[in-house]
Amino acid sequence: MNRNDQLITIETTPIWDIVIIGGGATGLGSALDAASRGFKTLCIEKTDFSKGTSSRSTKLIHGGVRYLEQGNFAMVKSALHERWFMLKNAPISTKKIPFILPVFSWWRYYYYGFGLMLYDFLSGKFSIGKTSFLSKNDVIEKIPEIREKSLKGGILYYDGQFDDSQICISLAKTAISKGATVINHMAFDSFIYENGKIIGINALDTIDHKKLEIKTKVVINATGVFADDIMQKDSEKHIPIVSPSQGIHLVVDKKHYNANDAMLIPKTTDGRILFAVPWLNKVVIGTTDIKTSQIVEEPIATEEEIMFVLENFNLYTNQKLTIKDIKSVFAGLRPLVKMKNIQSTADLIRDHTIAVSPSGLVTVTGGKWTTYRKMARDAVNKALRSSALPFRRCKTRRIKLLTINTLMMEINNAKLHQDFEYTINDVHNAIHNEMACTLEDILARRIRLLFLDVKVALEVAPKVCSILQQELKKDDNWYHQQIDSFAKLAQGYLPK
Ligand SMILES: Cc1cc2nc3c(=O)[nH]c(=O)nc-3n(C[C@H](O)[C@H](O)[C@H](O)COP(=O)(O)OP(=O)(O)OC[C@H]3O[C@@H](n4cnc5c(N)ncnc54)[C@H](O)[C@@H]3O)c2cc1C
Repeated sequence: MNRNDQLITIETTPIWDIVIIGGGATGLGSALDAASRGFKTLCIEKTDFSKGTSSRSTKLIHGGVRYLEQGNFAMVKSALHERWFMLKNAPISTKKIPFILPVFSWWRYYYYGFGLMLYDFLSGKFSIGKTSFLSKNDVIEKIPEIREKSLKGGILYYDGQFDDSQICISLAKTAISKGATVINHMAFDSFIYENGKIIGINALDTIDHKKLEIKTKVVINATGVFADDIMQKDSEKHIPIVSPSQGIHLVVDKKHYNANDAMLIPKTTDGRILFAVPWLNKVVIGTTDIKTSQIVEEPIATEEEIMFVLENFNLYTNQKLTIKDIKSVFAGLRPLVKMKNIQSTADLIRDHTIAVSPSGLVTVTGGKWTTYRKMARDAVNKALRSSALPFRRCKTRRIKLLTINTLMMEINNAKLHQDFEYTINDVHNAIHNEMACTLEDILARRIRLLFLDVKVALEVAPKVCSILQQELKKDDNWYHQQIDSFAKLAQGYLPK
């Protein structure tokens, strides 16, 4: 996956069938979908693949247990089917994990037990494991840190887990293998029109500071919470449709939650749910759900959110976590859709939304990581039906995603830091095979040190940046800029 090769293809292609703006789960999924149907496809990402919400999830492949309580069975069922396809098509980068829902009253024991049996029932032939009742002792054995007072037992059920940024790289690689052109650090700037219809876009290569004019038959806007920005550039009269909600996660050492099974707290102090999930030898605890009007690239966890997560984790365990125990805190924005502002041309689908503007722009937003394949399928179907392109059927149900280790570099297998498995090879691999262009690309999304332990990420930054400087043949000025901007970014991942 070489950026220069992708750039040459962009510069030498007179017209594309489909151009996709946004390199998160939805955009990259759409690139794979369109290319595998045989369309000349380009996907551009403003900063880096998965820089938006797609690197900031709870990393669960799930149907959404909480939607059951809302009676949204069709949505849960559909997501459970997608869960199965995601696990099947990316077997090396995903895994099934057991979840325990601890219960502290008898009626809840049966309420949640039967609810989670329904959850498994809804997955039908795509079930990944049977739900079962656990005794109090079973729960204590599996989660030694569980609060024993009033504990009645627990419910065991199964969902999937993955590394969100890693799957984005797999999607990009697989899309390229099917003929797509996929590039990061390439920002959409404006549309090009003919007779009121979009016939292309102007883009900016933010690495080489080059402007590009790109012609296409149809454009898909897959920019998550930034969807309105793109729609407003298409029409000043556009009424915003995205209503973002912020969610945060805390990352702590395994000693605070030394279980192999994840835990789901079904009702926190304010009625939300809370997960504690083992991930890459740490534990991810979250999340929150706060309506916000701040649509920014780097959302910051508030003190109130951090305290909420700490207090609720401590309430259901025998731990006394404090801010000092937090290794990293990351925030993300859910691209929720305001139904009432959808125009009549819009096509509403319960989980995600696809709108076609009078100019022909197709916008896809909402949904969740687990349903990216279905969102991509629906967006490409809509793009084909609203343009002059011929209709061809979606093929992604059966496409296996390429693993990201296929072109592993073997230069130096020394560890970057004694406490983590990441090696110098991983840095070279990120640069040469995974299109990493900046220090942040490597430390945040190719190897996940920024999300796992901010202090360690800052410690290894000079070493990683030296390799990057050497491999990309950059000067010392560039090196210092990279170090400074990464140090500034990292401050937002340290709890205040
Ligand atoms: C806290 C939290 C936890 C979650 N947990 C889960 C979970 O466990 N499981 C699950 O299934 N779902 C989860 N989700 C939902 C899931 O993460 C999102 O639905 C999904 O990542 C959205 O992907 P996307 O591609 O639509 O948007 P994004 O990932 O935000 O991608 C949009 C991309 O567009 C790019 N872009 C913006 N403007 C431009 C431009 N001008 N030019 C080019 N590119 C541009 C951005 O840089 C960004 O990379 C969670 C969400 C949150 C917030």
